[in-house]
Amino acid sequence: MIDLPDAPKLGKRLAIRVTKDALRQVRGGHPWIYDEAITSASDHGRAGDLAVIFDDRRKFAAIGLWDPASPIRIKVLHLGAPETIDQQFFGARLDQALALRSPLLDGDDTDACRLVHGENDGFPGLVVDEYADTLVVKLYSAAWWPHLRMVLEALVERRSPNRIVLRLGRLAAKGELGTLIEDGQVVMGDQPDGPVRFRENGLEFEADVQRGQKTGHFLDQRENRQRVREAASGRRVLDVFSHTGGFSLYAAAGGAVSVHSVDRSEPALASARRHMELNASNPGVAACEASQSAGDAFEVLADLASRRVGHELVVIDPPSFASRQSDVDGALHAYQRLTRAGLAVLAPGGLLVQASCSSRVTAESFVDSVLAGADEAGVELSSIDVTGHPLDHPVGFVHGHYLKAVYATRA
Ligand code: SAH
Repeated sequence: MIDLPDAPKLGKRLAIRVTKDALRQVRGGHPWIYDEAITSASDHGRAGDLAVIFDDRRKFAAIGLWDPASPIRIKVLHLGAPETIDQQFFGARLDQALALRSPLLDGDDTDACRLVHGENDGFPGLVVDEYADTLVVKLYSAAWWPHLRMVLEALVERRSPNRIVLRLGRLAAKGELGTLIEDGQVVMGDQPDGPVRFRENGLEFEADVQRGQKTGHFLDQRENRQRVREAASGRRVLDVFSHTGGFSLYAAAGGAVSVHSVDRSEPALASARRHMELNASNPGVAACEASQSAGDAFEVLADLASRRVGHELVVIDPPSFASRQSDVDGALHAYQRLTRAGLAVLAPGGLLVQASCSSRVTAESFVDSVLAGADEAGVELSSIDVTGHPLDHPVGFVHGHYLKAVYATRA
């Protein structure tokens, strides 16, 4: 049923010693061990070999996946007492992840959900998103390759999907795995004959699960989109960095007078138009005047401001601006500029919704940037609220906290 090439046999378990500091962090629940923290390894090891970390009394401390291609050399699976890493182990992990999501999985209005959120669910470097009867499994590390069949079988047993699509992150695609499997390969079920349909809070969506960004849709913004829908009635809405128009569609469904979506990607905007069409029977969507601008967000915002085009709700949801620690200052500055530019097209009394998905940017510093941007614009913000992660994107360790959104009313 599952069509995967044969994975390499696991080598011998590696015996690993790490620095005191790394051991302390692992015992505190941190799932990564960097190469420079490894003081001895019994062998070179291959991607996915099991690495057992011993403490200085030679006692078992943790076990993880060995990843020679990554500076995060070990991705920790388990700590405490010795444990067998087998299908049962992954199945039990999966059961925990599914139990956490049961409120979402049991509802009727939404059939798309992140089932496994990497390290935060005890699967470091592995993500599973469900879109109706399609599962998209994304590997961010080739270390999952020897264990993949077990994980897929455990998933099939529990979710009975009709299709599984495999996506490969950049690092996973680089090594041997990239020569055996293509990013977007269907490993169970039929080839999809187009984007996969799914429902989010009663609205119809499509995801290009084989080629789209991440796994085809940004599931993490579901709750923020719903909140925008609830605030949109009677308002002119601007959706900056709209991607496939999630916020735009929700705003229209919530009774927005008009929605203008801005993105530099033409295919993303085409998909946003398609989402409006798919929901044409929704009275809000049918009545809403939808328009788009393809181009750079900063330039489009400046142009709208110069033409004095006003809105009562502005959503700004940019991509991550800080992929490295050295980018953080630049990212904060960009957030500040976006706030200023967004407020220039937001009418008094209007709502600003601005998000950041950079894990290196803390919620506090992000809010500070937004406030600094407002200050620069000479605008006062009130009723400030900050939201975090939805249920299906739990935060399990310090770097797991990436998403934050500020809601603020322009005085
Ligand atoms: N709000 C979206 C997700 C946004 S993802 C949702 O709810 O699904 C970030 C988007 O920003 C991508 O679609 C990307 O094409 C777009 N983008 C990145 N840089 C941009 C720029 N400088 N100007 C306009 N769009 C940009």
